[in-house]
Amino acid sequence: MKPSAFDYARPRSVAEAVEALGSTEASRVLAGGQSLIPAMNFRLAEMSLLVDICDVDGLDTVSCDAAGVRVGAAATQTRVLDDADAAQAVPGLRATLRHVGHLQIRNRGTVCGSLAHADPAAELPALALASDALIGISGPRGRREVPAADFVTGPFTTVVEDGELVTDALFRRPPSGAVTVVDEVCRRAGDFALAGLVAVVEAQDGAVRTARLVGFGLRGVPTRMRNAEDVLAGWAGDHSIEAITDAVAADTTEVFDDTHAPGWYRRDAVTALVVRTVRSVLESHEAP
Ligand SMILES: Cc1cc2nc3c(=O)[nH]c(=O)nc-3n(C[C@H](O)[C@H](O)[C@H](O)COP(=O)(O)OP(=O)(O)OC[C@H]3O[C@@H](n4cnc5c(N)ncnc54)[C@H](O)[C@@H]3O)c2cc1C
Repeated sequence: MKPSAFDYARPRSVAEAVEALGSTEASRVLAGGQSLIPAMNFRLAEMSLLVDICDVDGLDTVSCDAAGVRVGAAATQTRVLDDADAAQAVPGLRATLRHVGHLQIRNRGTVCGSLAHADPAAELPALALASDALIGISGPRGRREVPAADFVTGPFTTVVEDGELVTDALFRRPPSGAVTVVDEVCRRAGDFALAGLVAVVEAQDGAVRTARLVGFGLRGVPTRMRNAEDVLAGWAGDHSIEAITDAVAADTTEVFDDTHAPGWYRRDAVTALVVRTVRSVLESHEAP
């Protein structure tokens, strides 16, 4: 199929982009187009004006400072994946982006576009939650910054309002010495996850000190797994894994149960990911 007819704007500044978005009710931001263009071709997405942000000054930047890595809304996933400074400051970015689609997708798709799209099975919104990211949004009333925990409100739904655009996301540095692990279960490499996990784990003296766990592909929004985090604090791999299984079950009471995978499978898969992750962190911590 072909998309419905639409007008196209290519602003050069954030102010121009906001003005264009506000000029009609049915406007939409175009970033990498890797999710939006297929949806338009299937006529699942229709708009009267497409506002392409790829030429907006200053939006294709990736910058590192003491707080973390700030990724502009036009920076592609490949650009961030290949940035050595970004990988050093927030290792989770590279670890996450390796799982996102394929090279061709990452060459066009943007990090902020993935956050704005808020696919429940996407890796980047989970990393944003795990790294306490701050998402910058500009609109007719100016700029605001929203913590990742408040950003995604449902499947494919965020706090971004009509007439606004995401301009950047700040992924914070993990605690010193923490290890970030991103792992997922999917049918084929590059597919969206049936169940996935972003874990930021601090270990000391052969035991977990703290763990921040975010599951994805499980339900409509990324899932902070606080029961499992509590059980893992102090875990040295010497107890039965039953406590972890029970905690993950408590964290995943609402899980997708659909044609892609039954709920019990997603729950078992993410439990296995948690156990595998914590074991691998403790093993690598023990290595001389
Ligand atoms: C074959 C295939 C496999 C894929 N596999 C994966 C995968 O494994 N994991 C994964 O996470 N993703 C995957 N993707 C999706 C990919 O990561 C997309 O690039 C991403 O979801 C959207 O980024 P984009 O820049 O292409 O956004 P677009 O497609 O341009 O936009 C997506 C949506 O977000 C909105 N939007 C985009 N940018 C902004 C902004 N700055 N402000 C406000 N709204 C905005 C658009 O209006 C639109 O509604 C895959 C895509 C394809 C085609």
